Amino acid sequence: MKYEKEINRRKTFAIISHPDAGKTTLTEKFLLFGGAIQTAGAVKSNKIKKHATSDFMEIERQRGISVATSVMTFEYQDNLINLLDTPGHKDFAEDTYRTLTAVDSVVLVIDSVNGVEDQTRRLMEVCRMRDTPVIVFINKMDRDGKNRFDLLEEIEKELKLSLHPLTWPINSGKDFKGVYNLHDKSLLLFTANTKANEEGSVAIEDLADARLDAKVGESDANILREDVELIEGVYGKLNPADYLAGKVAPVFFGSAINNFGVKELLDTFIDIAPVPRDRETSSRNVEAGEDKFSGFIFKIHANLDPKHRDRIAFLRVCSGRFERNKYFHHVRLDRDLRFSNPYSFLARSKDVIDDAYAGDVVGLFDTGNFKIGDTLTEGEDFYFTGIPSFSPEIFKELVNKDPMKTKQLEKGIRQLTDEGVAQLFTQFGGNKKIIGCVGELQFEVIQYRLLHEYSAACEFRTLPFFKACWLTSTDDKKLEDFLRFKQSNSAEDKDGNPVYLAQSEWFLNTEIQNNPDIQFHFTSEIH
Ligand code: GDP
Repeated sequence: MKYEKEINRRKTFAIISHPDAGKTTLTEKFLLFGGAIQTAGAVKSNKIKKHATSDFMEIERQRGISVATSVMTFEYQDNLINLLDTPGHKDFAEDTYRTLTAVDSVVLVIDSVNGVEDQTRRLMEVCRMRDTPVIVFINKMDRDGKNRFDLLEEIEKELKLSLHPLTWPINSGKDFKGVYNLHDKSLLLFTANTKANEEGSVAIEDLADARLDAKVGESDANILREDVELIEGVYGKLNPADYLAGKVAPVFFGSAINNFGVKELLDTFIDIAPVPRDRETSSRNVEAGEDKFSGFIFKIHANLDPKHRDRIAFLRVCSGRFERNKYFHHVRLDRDLRFSNPYSFLARSKDVIDDAYAGDVVGLFDTGNFKIGDTLTEGEDFYFTGIPSFSPEIFKELVNKDPMKTKQLEKGIRQLTDEGVAQLFTQFGGNKKIIGCVGELQFEVIQYRLLHEYSAACEFRTLPFFKACWLTSTDDKKLEDFLRFKQSNSAEDKDGNPVYLAQSEWFLNTEIQNNPDIQFHFTSEIH
C-alpha cells in the first residue's frame, strides 16, 4: 500500500451535541491543543467577523445560526485530525446526518445538567445505523448537574449505548474537585480556567494514599474510593475493539469552558479513535489504504451571493490519494473531471491543496456537476452506499407566484434539492410539487434563496402529512394498485421512487398492516 503512512495518521470525526451542550467550546479547545488557533474565543469571534465582512450566508447572519458545515484540520502529536463541524440547529439536522456519513467516529457532548436531550437521541440513531464509534464527554461538571451514576444510566438507557467511564468526577458544581483517571490512575485537580497544556495531574496509584484526602478532602476522597471500587467491578478494562465496533462508548467527565478534562479526552481519542475505515460500495468493499483514489460528495455548500453562484462540493476521500489537476471519473455522469482549485480547510480559512489522502475532506469548486452522494473514482464504476435520505417531517406544496418565472423556479428547486436543502416529491396524477423538510426554517431559507438567487417567487401551502415512506415490493402489480388507490397520498421522489405520504401514525400503521406485500421504508439510500 503506497499511502499507508499518510492514511494511518488521519482521524476524521465530528463533535455532536444538543445545542448549548458545549460543542463549540470543546471544538475551540481542541483547536487550541492542535495549535490551529492561538486564543480562546477565536472560534466564536471568527464567526462574527465572517458575518460582518461577507455576504456569504446572508440568512445565517440574520438568524445567527450556523447553516453551513465546515471542516477544521489540525495536527496533534503527529496525527492529522479532520474535525467536521455540524449545524446545531435542529432544522438543519439532515445536514448533520449526512456529515455523519463522512466521519469515522464521533465525540458526543452531553450537558451534565440537562442530560440526554432531543437532538442527542436523533444524532445517536444515525450513528447507530453505521456502528460509528462514539466517545462521550459529559460537560459542565462545574455546574450542579445530575448525579453521576444517574447520568450514566440515563445515557445508557436513552441512547441504547453501553458506556465505559475512563475518568470519574469528584463532586460537582461549586464543589467540583476534579477527575480521577481510571486508566492511568492519576488525579486531575480542577482549577477554573486551567490554561491549555498546563499539567495539573498527580499520580495516585493506590487510592488509599493519604495524599488523596489531602488534595480533595476526606469526605470526597472516601466517596471516590467507593465509586471507583464499584465502577471497576462493573466495567473492568476497556476493550478497544468493542469501541471500534460501536458497541461500547468510553466516557470522560470535564468542563470544556475551563479546558478541564479535555486533554485526557483528546489524548485517548488520538490513541483509540479509528483511522479511515473501509467503506461499502455498490460492487465491493473499498479499503482506505488502496492505491487508487475514490471518494464521495456528502455536502454541497452554495454561495448565497447571486453575483457568485458558485458552490463548494465537499468530497470525503475514501481511498488512495486525490490529486489536483488529475482527471477523475464522475460515476453518475460517466464523465472525467479534473479540479484545478481543490481546497483544504485549516480552521476556517481555505487553502488550495495539491493532494489529499483517504480520510481527508476536500472542497471542490462546482458549477453544477454534483449532487449529494456522487462518487468519484479513478475509472472504476461503483458508488458508495449507506448515504441515506431521511423522511422529512414537514410537507408543503410549492406554489409558483410568478408564472413568467416558471423555468427559474424549476431550475432553482432542482439545484437546491441537489444540494440537499430539501426533498422534492411530485404527486402522482397531478403535477403538484411537494417540498419536504425537517424544520420550518428550511422553508424560509428556500423561499429566500429562490427569490434572491433565481428571481423566482414562491409560496408554500401546508399539507397534512407527517412522514414519507419509500415503498418497495416484489409484487409490482400490488404496488401499482396501491399507488393508484392511494393517489392523494402517493408521490415519487426526485429519482422516480414511489413514496407514500402518511397523514398520521395511525394511517401509516393501518396501511402497513393492510399491505403485507409492500415494504415501507423510513429512509432511502440516495442511490
Ligand atoms: P454548542 O451550542 O453546543 O456549540 O454550545 P457552546 O459551546 O456554544 O456552549 C453553550 C454555552 O455553555 C456557552 O455559554 C458556554 O460558555 C457554556 N459552556 C460550555 N462549556 C461549559 C462548561 O464546562 N461549564 C459551564 N458552566 N458552561 C459551559
